[in-house]
Amino acid sequence: GAGVVIVGGGQAGLQLATSLRQGGYGEAIRIIGAEPYAPYQRPPLSKAVLSGEAGVDTVPLRAPAFFADNRLDLVTGRRVEAIDPGARTVTAGADTIAYDHLIVATGADVRKLPVPGAELEGVLYLRGLDDALKLKEALARPRQVVVIGGGFIGLEVAASATKLGSKAVVVEALPRVLARSTAPAMASAIVRRHGEKGVEIKTGAGVSRIEGEGAVSAVVLSDGTKLPADLVVVGIGVVPAAGIAQAAGIATDNGIVVDELLRTSAPGVFAIGDVARFPTRFAPKPVLVESVQNAIDQGKAVAATILGKPKPYDAVPWFWSDQFDMKLQTTGLAFDVEEAVVRGDPDSLAFSVFLLRGGRVIAVDTLNKPADHMIGRRLVTAGTRLSAAEIADPSFDLKQAAA
Ligand code: FAD
Repeated sequence: GAGVVIVGGGQAGLQLATSLRQGGYGEAIRIIGAEPYAPYQRPPLSKAVLSGEAGVDTVPLRAPAFFADNRLDLVTGRRVEAIDPGARTVTAGADTIAYDHLIVATGADVRKLPVPGAELEGVLYLRGLDDALKLKEALARPRQVVVIGGGFIGLEVAASATKLGSKAVVVEALPRVLARSTAPAMASAIVRRHGEKGVEIKTGAGVSRIEGEGAVSAVVLSDGTKLPADLVVVGIGVVPAAGIAQAAGIATDNGIVVDELLRTSAPGVFAIGDVARFPTRFAPKPVLVESVQNAIDQGKAVAATILGKPKPYDAVPWFWSDQFDMKLQTTGLAFDVEEAVVRGDPDSLAFSVFLLRGGRVIAVDTLNKPADHMIGRRLVTAGTRLSAAEIADPSFDLKQAAA
């Protein structure tokens, strides 16, 4: 047969290819990636690689020999422009490539800041290795950095820039940082630590424009406040890269719509990773999940389906973020939270927040508490019932409750 074609050589696409070969798939596997690099890890780009604690040589997911050894046909620097689901082909430049199974693993693109001045020199984004190299170069000398967006990427960039000797101000439009992903008590502790390390965080602060003569010189907030800046990093979220699927008539809804087996509306076409909107028992409606865990586990799930052992995708979501001396870990999806219970002392920089709905644990955020995180994954997977009193009681045996 024509084998498997994977659009996008990122975390999800590489995992799928690897799992297929490990599972004994014998046909051709082609990975077509738009970036000029073999598959690499993104998490270090805002953390150790940006701050200089790790070299750029640490980011590749596999050594070059891996691809030849596993007969993975990797093409880099090529963009797939079109999918023809009827003919079961994709088009990349002058080539038309046939597939038995097509996997769209195109990830996401940064959301652009829609204000005047956003095109000035010195306004940067961070998604890929090229972005990281540019940002790293800009931070080689101390800067006055304004980070727009108080999500994980924004806070990690602020921490890395500070470690390098720059002064960082984070601007967040919502009333608090990490609003989408982290419990209020957790976000407060993180903000406090950033303050102690010299990062200023402004919440409820919209950006009205960026000023500068050629290069950026200031960020102007909607209340008129002018923040001097010679470097601006925008981290206001991503947009799933669903354009080629949509143009092919495949169902999309801010992301490519897939079922529990990660199948799209087109026969033989799957979508995985940041681009896939999937149904899950961990959320009341189909979701996009932007995490390494999700990319890896969805790659594995589709490999199993192609290998004839389909099993609905049901992995518990988890995520991490490193900022200064803080390792934040989350598990579950915090939809319709009814109760948030703190375990441990939030002032100690090592505590957890358990999020409950209907008396069950639906998500757990931990700070420098890796054991609670691992237990949390089990509690969320099982939907364990726990009371607020039990969770808050330091002598209550959580591990036992998760067993
Ligand atoms: P990607 O890894 O984005 O790969 C998609 C690839 O497809 C890209 O290379 C893209 O160029 C390519 N592509 C797109 N369109 C086409 C086309 N038409 N033709 C060919 N190729 C195409 N997650 C965590 O769990 N923990 C973290 O700490 C963490 N930190 C992060 C830090 C940063 C700076 C970033 C950017 C992300 C971070 N993430 C983190 C998220 C995680 O990296 C992503 O969820 C993960 O990479 C998603 O994998 P993916 O394969 O779906 O997409």
